[in-house]
Amino acid sequence: MRVVEGDSRVRVTSGPWSPLAAVREVVASGQEDPFYVMDIGEVVARYNHWREVMPRVEPFYAVKCNDEKLLVSTLAALGCGFDCASRAEMQLVTGLGVAPERIIFANPAKLASHIRYASAAGVLTMTVDCETELYKILQCMPHAELVIRIRCDAESAQCPLGMKFGCDPVTEAPRLIKLAAVLGLQVVGVSFHVGSGAGETAVYARAIRHAHELFRLGTAAGHAMRLLDVGGGFPGNAHTSVREVAAVINASLEEHFPSRDVRVIAEPGRYFAAAAYTLAAMIYAKREVPAKEGGEPHTMYFINDGVYGSFNCVLYDLQHVVAQPLEVENSRPEACSVWGPSCDALDCVLPAARLPAQRVGGWLVFRDMGAYTLPVASPFNGFPVPTVRPFVDEQLWSMLQRMWPAELPQWEAESPPASPPRAESPPLSEYPAPESPEPPLRPASPLGPVFVECALK
Ligand SMILES: *Cc1c(COP(=O)(O)O)cnc(C)c1O
Repeated sequence: MRVVEGDSRVRVTSGPWSPLAAVREVVASGQEDPFYVMDIGEVVARYNHWREVMPRVEPFYAVKCNDEKLLVSTLAALGCGFDCASRAEMQLVTGLGVAPERIIFANPAKLASHIRYASAAGVLTMTVDCETELYKILQCMPHAELVIRIRCDAESAQCPLGMKFGCDPVTEAPRLIKLAAVLGLQVVGVSFHVGSGAGETAVYARAIRHAHELFRLGTAAGHAMRLLDVGGGFPGNAHTSVREVAAVINASLEEHFPSRDVRVIAEPGRYFAAAAYTLAAMIYAKREVPAKEGGEPHTMYFINDGVYGSFNCVLYDLQHVVAQPLEVENSRPEACSVWGPSCDALDCVLPAARLPAQRVGGWLVFRDMGAYTLPVASPFNGFPVPTVRPFVDEQLWSMLQRMWPAELPQWEAESPPASPPRAESPPLSEYPAPESPEPPLRPASPLGPVFVECALK
């Protein structure tokens, strides 16, 4: 095996392990900069779960959510399709050996140069939601297979998308379908996105009903309607499930699209990425703020990743992040705030939290950080974007490597160093912890209790 990039060394483990244990191992090896532990097994488990609960719906991973190569490669190896929004995303995915038939160019407003790239790469399927886009495609790629993106918003969503994309399914979409027929363009289906982090499942039923009506209109206009794309919006955090939304989608498909001649795809982003990444950031400074007017004293913790880095998700994706101290202290939780490293006062990760007293050199761990974090992070002010430390079980790893398309880079495996066993500390009940405890660790997990006094170096 060869190393393709500095970050591509995969830690191969045997027996159960947990992201927290992995964080401890990396910290014990002397790490000072922020980093992610990436759980390849979580991605595989989520892919399998999806196939189990929605066997008819082929997932096309939305690359914009997290374009990290190992994540995309793992999904490629599993046979996943991809939703790409730009030339660079198509290049990334085709560069990993994914056939163009497994890609949908799902950006309704496309640059002409990107359409020409899609045409050259053989990516035929693309979404549209307005007339000018039809004329653009007529010029650049008249043989494209078009999917009409309609608007159907969830009642609530972490990031609504309807104000930017999607035409009205009743007043606009029928006209687009007819115009495409007049122009000699082929419409093959309908897509929608109910909003990222959708707070409602019934919306998928409403949208599928609209799509059914448009399939009828499309067929009447002479189009060969054969693709339904139910978009994204699925939950991705640990301890969330797609079972409920799968039941809604499966039932709607049986009602409105019973024929297996219609291919059904989805564009999950968050679902595959969020839970697979755990972020660890180090407390490198702290400031005690005395109590004011009978209030509580307050500690400001400064960590080495902030809103210009991974925590851009707090600003852009309106994520609610939860800090979990790596070292379990037995002291009571106290009022505190958590700040990023830049010299910008906006760089606040948690304005009001409660944590047991932390020391400089301690680490805070943040779960479910894989969605809409890394691709947006910048090294603003000279603070590096966290690196990714992938972990995978040895059996899964050898299975994945057999599935890896030949074109994929061979990731180098790195065996963890032997170190004394240490039991996982239970989460403290006083601070927010995952709803269910970490899975049990095998006794000989490679953990080292080494302590790095970073700030004193
Ligand atoms: C962002 C996006 C997705 C992914 O959405 P999630 O809510 O992360 O699943 C899917 N499709 C399109 C067109 C998108 O823009």
